Amino acid sequence: MAKDYYKILGVDRGASQEEIKKAFRRLAHKYHPDKEGGDEEKFKEINEAYQVLSDEKKRAQYDQFGQTFEGAGAGYSHMNWEDFVRNFGDVFSGFAGSKEAHFGGFSDIFSEFFGGGFTGTRTKTDRKVQGKDLELLLEIDFKDAVFGGEKEVEVKKPDVCPSCSGTGIEKGSKIIKCPQCGGQGRVHQTQRSFFGTFSHISICPTCEGTGEKPEKYCRKCHGEGRVVEKKRIKIKIPAGVDNGDSIKIKGEGEAGLRGGGFGDLYVRFRVRKDPYFVRDGNDIRTTEYIPYSVAVLGGKVSVKTLYGDVKIKIPAGCRDGQVFKIKGKGIPHLGNEHRKGDHYVQIRIDVPKKLTKKQKDLLEQLQKEGL
Ligand SMILES: [Zn+2]
Ligand SMILES: [Zn+2]
Repeated sequence: MAKDYYKILGVDRGASQEEIKKAFRRLAHKYHPDKEGGDEEKFKEINEAYQVLSDEKKRAQYDQFGQTFEGAGAGYSHMNWEDFVRNFGDVFSGFAGSKEAHFGGFSDIFSEFFGGGFTGTRTKTDRKVQGKDLELLLEIDFKDAVFGGEKEVEVKKPDVCPSCSGTGIEKGSKIIKCPQCGGQGRVHQTQRSFFGTFSHISICPTCEGTGEKPEKYCRKCHGEGRVVEKKRIKIKIPAGVDNGDSIKIKGEGEAGLRGGGFGDLYVRFRVRKDPYFVRDGNDIRTTEYIPYSVAVLGGKVSVKTLYGDVKIKIPAGCRDGQVFKIKGKGIPHLGNEHRKGDHYVQIRIDVPKKLTKKQKDLLEQLQKEGL
């Protein structure tokens, strides 16, 4: 028995395309299942009516025979509001931000769409999809890289929807027979080709063969089971980490679709330079200036290391640029904190620019001695 598409859209039989469009827009907004007070059955009906009446050829068939020769409602599957608006772009185009009074109801939808948690990955099925891995570049202090530490970061990422706990199903929603396959889990698909029409059976794309689907999808996440949220994550910096090293934090990536499990978070480190300590693998290199007299006569020099001051012995006759090793005062090996690199000190001879009268006299005497 044929439905009265004109009555469904609330327009009279002579309605113009513009009037039909307008009526559809208003009703689609009102009854879309993602909206408060939505009604999927009613929405399907409106959709079907519009499919026919917006197409002059189908409309003419319908006017004449009370039906069309191609099933207008076939192929309908639940689309969330955004997909829906996108697929009917010609009907809705140009209304984002429109201030026109009779489209007033749309501006809130569009602001929801552009600013909200929609990630654009909603598939047409209810399949679970594993969340993606994320990579984060984290800049850390030199000391944190050497000794390890902890840093809290804020990450904006898809997380489990708190409203539906990740199921994508509106709380209290019934599970209904899948409308595409009528609960069979399989659909007949017809392909027309040059050689004729072929029909084959395949798994229903809407319900993935289960034959069931929720009556209402979660309004907050549009059935995705996840929403983009800010999350604070504590990151443990392992001792000895270097520029470009990365660690994996299991399960801190994106939440999956409809409870599909979390991806992982990869944190890659960028280590800030230290003005004094120069890193060379697990070793440290520094420069120490000593007076000429110490270089000639030998002596002791205090060197600042990562683990406090260490006195080193300068042998008599030390040359400019000579390097001394302080064992085990370098950077811990990543994954084995007890094994450390070494600290190398390069000795430079300090040439004073200002001298006291006494120093000058003494140096002049040394000069006379040929030093
Ligand atoms: Zn949800
Ligand atoms: Zn199905």
